[in-house]
Amino acid sequence: MRYAIISDLHSNLDALERVIEDIKKQKVDRHLCLGDIIGYGAQPNECIRLVREELKCLTIAGNHDWAALGKTNIDYFNAYAKEATLWTREQLSEDEVKYIDSLPLIEHLPEDFTLVHGTLYNPELFDYIQTSYDAYLSLQALDGRVCFLGHSHVPITFFQGEMISYTLSQEISLEVGVKALVNVGSVGQPRDDNPKASYAIYDTDKRKVWIRRIEYDIESAGKKIRDAGLPEVLAERLKYGR
Ligand code: ZN
Repeated sequence: MRYAIISDLHSNLDALERVIEDIKKQKVDRHLCLGDIIGYGAQPNECIRLVREELKCLTIAGNHDWAALGKTNIDYFNAYAKEATLWTREQLSEDEVKYIDSLPLIEHLPEDFTLVHGTLYNPELFDYIQTSYDAYLSLQALDGRVCFLGHSHVPITFFQGEMISYTLSQEISLEVGVKALVNVGSVGQPRDDNPKASYAIYDTDKRKVWIRRIEYDIESAGKKIRDAGLPEVLAERLKYGR
């Protein structure tokens, strides 16, 4: 099976549309979404529609999805994230609220891999995996072979061999007997100093993952953020991938 795995779309329709064009050339069997469909950007409804109806993604919830529904405390969000969350909440229809509310925090796929937004231990806390020790904690909690995640908006893969190692490579081989955590990066707000949208292709027969980086119209996404009255910084950061 070949999967396209997207995460952290953050209401950025310009980025999502270009990513979908690329996915269509990749001959995938199924689409997976690791959460944070909304929050930050100006087109939450359009992004929800594409994930649900166009891609028919198997989707899990991220912290911004929960935040828009009031399911998680936004006191720890920075001022811009808070403002965007409150704006997003106003945009959602009853049906969209129901859909987001129905999303689970973890999914296990039959081919021995798992999906989560932040961490495998206490996924409802939405902690970040940034160090080898953070990765170790989630690898310990991983039943299967591979876990795909998002949340930090930085594509990186951690492996559990005798030690924890990692790679920033865009072509990742998943060796038998080595557990891995694959962060697929962010479609709508990359933060690894590369402004191109990020997503992953996973081929379970070849045991390979490819991180793909896709150019999109950043000016257009930024203009929509400004026109919606959302904080300027949310438009500006897209240019730098931060
Ligand atoms: Zn996110």
